Amino acid sequence: MRDPMSNTYPPTDAFAKTAHADAETYAKMYADSMADPDAFWGEHGKRIDWIKPYSKVKNTSFAPGNVDIKWFEDGTLNVSANCVDRHVETRGDQTAIIWEPDDPNTTDAMHITYRDLQTSVSKMANILQDLGVSKGDRVVIYLPMIPEAAYAMLACTRIGAVHSIVFAGFSPDALGARINGCDAKVVITADHAPRGGRSTPLKSNADAALLHCKESVKCLVVKRTGEQTTWTDRDYSYNDMVLEADDYQKPVEMAAEDPLFILYTSGSTGQPKGVVHTTGGYLVYAAMTHEYTFDYHDGDVFWCTADVGWVTGHSYIVYGPLANGGTTIMFEGVPTYPDAGRFWEVCAKHKVNQFYTAPTAIRALMAAGPEWVEKHDLSDLKLLGSVGEPINPEAWNWYYNVVGKGNVPIVDTFWQTETGGHMLTPLPGATTLKPGAAQAPFFGVKPVVLDPQSGEEIHGNDVEGVLCIGDSWPGQMRTVWGDHERFEKTYFGDYAGYYFSGDGCKRDADGDYWVTGRVDDVINVSGHRMGTAEVESALVAHVKVAEAAVVGYPHDIKGQGIYAYVTLMNNEEPSEDLRKELEKWVRSEIGPIAKPDLIQWAPGLPKTRSGKIMRRILRKIAEDDFGALGDTSTLADPSVVEDLIENRMNKS
Ligand code: ATP
Ligand code: MG
Repeated sequence: MRDPMSNTYPPTDAFAKTAHADAETYAKMYADSMADPDAFWGEHGKRIDWIKPYSKVKNTSFAPGNVDIKWFEDGTLNVSANCVDRHVETRGDQTAIIWEPDDPNTTDAMHITYRDLQTSVSKMANILQDLGVSKGDRVVIYLPMIPEAAYAMLACTRIGAVHSIVFAGFSPDALGARINGCDAKVVITADHAPRGGRSTPLKSNADAALLHCKESVKCLVVKRTGEQTTWTDRDYSYNDMVLEADDYQKPVEMAAEDPLFILYTSGSTGQPKGVVHTTGGYLVYAAMTHEYTFDYHDGDVFWCTADVGWVTGHSYIVYGPLANGGTTIMFEGVPTYPDAGRFWEVCAKHKVNQFYTAPTAIRALMAAGPEWVEKHDLSDLKLLGSVGEPINPEAWNWYYNVVGKGNVPIVDTFWQTETGGHMLTPLPGATTLKPGAAQAPFFGVKPVVLDPQSGEEIHGNDVEGVLCIGDSWPGQMRTVWGDHERFEKTYFGDYAGYYFSGDGCKRDADGDYWVTGRVDDVINVSGHRMGTAEVESALVAHVKVAEAAVVGYPHDIKGQGIYAYVTLMNNEEPSEDLRKELEKWVRSEIGPIAKPDLIQWAPGLPKTRSGKIMRRILRKIAEDDFGALGDTSTLADPSVVEDLIENRMNKS
């Protein structure tokens, strides 16, 4: 499938014939979406069911001081009716959700049909209503990856409540701030959350968080492990209430622009932002991207390994796949438990057709060795996906060759909490893949490359700058919860009239897009601007390196020097020789200008709970500025930071 003349991979014949979009279809649909967004989305908005059809499609403004985004504004609908009820009539006995537990040796997987889902969602909706939740109220969901998390999301949409999911790995402080931030009426949690063989006391965390919240906030507790928990006056047992709850709850009619959910960004760059998505545009966009990007067909089994605490889990575990009547896997565990073959074991067990994960997981599994993949039958895989960070070509190649056996396309999807769904991505039947590139805009997305200094649009190919979007798309966030000014300032304040992604990008000679990482992550070495991702990719390409993070630090002569944090493969030992070898390696891979000035061995890197490297913290350490590490509440393992501070490199 690889083109021997260059490192590119054209669509296989099978894909080009059966995919929802081949190259020609993509080109035509994309051109239509740009030429007349009203006509294009007016048509594709019909992929979901409306109670009252819309007559207006797009009504959006990026104008400074007046950013206002509305799609399908006079239409009404209900999200849970679209994700559940409408499929019960046609495919009630089809599995909607396959639940795969943390520990496969003690607990069985569950298959939940669309009919089951309707009952469970209705019951949960009924319970929430009994707890006093009504249309427009906020509900915080702090649950493990169990089916009740999906029931809770869909139950909120059924009665018009706005959910805000807080990842179960977050601390009581982070949870409390999010409960207060949206003034939630109810928090839904579980007794304990098993993950990777360990158990987090979710209920006690919720209790600790609620100490700092209004007394009126109620806590609905789902039994997951049955371990003992304390019980207070504000607590309600889901397992008791579900016995009494009605098994049918009528979906309420919602306006397209009513808020659907609030979700905080992962906090890689600073204080997390409460991103607000609304009902109609989000659902249309999540469903359409799910179908086209993954080339999802009826009967396929789709697995997105994210947690529902991230936007990826919202759009591609729950809303996209279920709106499309798909079968989606919800995985409670981690990639390395009980062993490093878990992902592949689950793929084989449930005959997964599309598999979607993050570069951080791919790199970790690559370090564990190919034998973990080879043990399992992955012959049902038709497509692989990546999301969350730029994927280094080395990891891409491993994913492609070892997991995909050289004949399964990879879609490298660039998008953000703020964008609701994919923005730049290959389509498997249409795109000639380039390892490491997110490549092409999805329908309706108008990427523009701006000069970071002048803010002028850079036209033509073979150019580089900051990635902005020139016009609205239906999945776009509408505001920051309770702070529209922050919304305008953050996303429209830097470059008037454009949505600013915060990421840098290249448009290569063929017009394909390469996201180079966050603009803050560009370093300037002796006047040469360099994306840190490029140096990291070179380091990771070395056989002994598992992972690398690169930041700049003040350097007397060069302006900025290159500081590299390097995690070695499982069996490798750090040494001075290896340090020299890596310096030489980067020199030869990129050029003398990219040679790291300092290399620190890092047993672990500081990551967000979604697995992204927090370069802002690494930058502070490299700058010797430990007092100002900023918000570390979303850090997965704070002890990593202490180790790095202790062993930082001396810059004499
Ligand atoms: P915060 O906004 O709080 O700093 P965050 O940006 O990490 O956190 P997300 O919305 O989860 O929060 O992540 C979006 C970002 O992830 C993008 O802006 C981009 O930097 C990165 N990203 C996601 N997918 C890709 C991809 N395929 N290629 C390159 N970068 C990606
Ligand atoms: Mg961001």
